[in-house]
Amino acid sequence: MPSQTLEKPADNHALRSAVISVRGLHKYYDLGETRVHALRGVNLNIERGEFVAIMGASGSGKSTFMNILGSLDLPSSGSYRFEGIEVAALSKSEIARLRNQRIGFVFQGFNLLGRTSALENVELPMLYAHVSSQVRHSRTQEALSLVGLADRADHFPSQLSGGQQQRVAIARALVNRPSFILADEPTGNLDSRTSVEVMEIFQRLNELGLTIILVTHERDIAQYATRQIVFRDGKIVSDTPVLDRLNASEVLQTLPQLEED
Ligand code: ADP
Ligand code: MG
Repeated sequence: MPSQTLEKPADNHALRSAVISVRGLHKYYDLGETRVHALRGVNLNIERGEFVAIMGASGSGKSTFMNILGSLDLPSSGSYRFEGIEVAALSKSEIARLRNQRIGFVFQGFNLLGRTSALENVELPMLYAHVSSQVRHSRTQEALSLVGLADRADHFPSQLSGGQQQRVAIARALVNRPSFILADEPTGNLDSRTSVEVMEIFQRLNELGLTIILVTHERDIAQYATRQIVFRDGKIVSDTPVLDRLNASEVLQTLPQLEED
């Protein structure tokens, strides 16, 4: 893949093969008299199949950047192309459709609906996307199996451990077959073994070809990715491949097994 990229005339090819292409991105927040310059000229390509960890101190612009990638917010200036499409040029409803159908979100706090079973939580994005009930059913089963929760489909979030809830949230993020998964501190509320279990799922999905972008402040969690990007003061200050990558299923074998429920 890298050698091919080098042979082609640079920009054209980069735009065509990148899931995400960001150029000269700036974001300002205006707060009355003051103006916060949260992103100060970010340039980045992310290709299909990458597993990227985004790191950086609190306030460095990670969430601002993720919100733009997730089309939850627009940049103040610069370009964000999603699969070659300039997001800022889309209408509000096109952006909503892109966000709901092409991007899978995983949050620190799981964000499941409490009075709704695991199965219904996972089905929900497909209801918004008007997927037929037959396809909904098979994709829900498939996604719950992928995260190892096929036998908990009828459980409510309160009947599931934190790790299980996050796995439901990952299944929910998968069902519309997104172009990429955006996960903001997905292990922030989990103990260390459960965190590795979640990383094991992400590594398995990534091996199946899924593009994953994950924000974390934990160095060891970032070691499960294939690429690490560090933000400082609204800029990317380093962008490196992970050389001593951790394999989550191997690490799990070295950790004591906890009793689940
Ligand atoms: P991180 O996620 O790395 O902690 P953020 O993207 O949340 O960083 O914040 C970057 C900067 O932008 C910080 O100075 C923060 O205070 C500011 N900021 C973030 N969101 C807002 C907002 N909605 N309104 C005003 N300022 C914000
Ligand atoms: Mg943040």
